Amino acid sequence: MEDHTEHVCIICGQTKEEGITIVSQFICEDCESEMVRTDANDAKYHYFIHQMRQITMQTHV
Ligand SMILES: [Zn+2]
Repeated sequence: MEDHTEHVCIICGQTKEEGITIVSQFICEDCESEMVRTDANDAKYHYFIHQMRQITMQTHV
């Protein structure tokens, strides 16, 4: 059984094999590592939070 499942990253919208899944939503390793590096004052950080919040909202519907 091969596990070559591809997922669409919710941050960049690209299809990747490697990454993490949070609340059944996929974030590729590139975006994940970028999130870790991103400073809280960076505008990109707020974009990530915005995306994450959408996930949370979806799961609570
Ligand atoms: Zn990504």
